[in-house]
Amino acid sequence: MHEMSIAQGILDIVLKTATEHSAVKVTYIKLLIGQMTQVEPESLTFGFAVLSAGTIADGAKIDITIVPLVGKCSSCEEQFTVERYSFLCPHCHSANVTVVSGRELAVDYLEVE
Ligand SMILES: [Zn+2]
Repeated sequence: MHEMSIAQGILDIVLKTATEHSAVKVTYIKLLIGQMTQVEPESLTFGFAVLSAGTIADGAKIDITIVPLVGKCSSCEEQFTVERYSFLCPHCHSANVTVVSGRELAVDYLEVE
């Protein structure tokens, strides 16, 4: 399951960061998840709860913000939200589009005790 390995990666970052700050408990985790990662927030939250059991992040509240998929046209510089994975510029119809955001998978913020 895709979400389980992502949850493990997030847990690793959370525990490493918390340890660096001499935290004894992690109470809140804010995650930024790009739309393009196709992560199911419920599955990710569940996976994290399973994996974090017995660690200092056990029981932490998880807040997930989905970052929309935004593309930028290399031909006319137009920036736009990508709908239904259609990577065509709505302005000049060029297919020369790069992804600006929507691929991220990051721990944005942590609250610890
Ligand atoms: Zn364009």
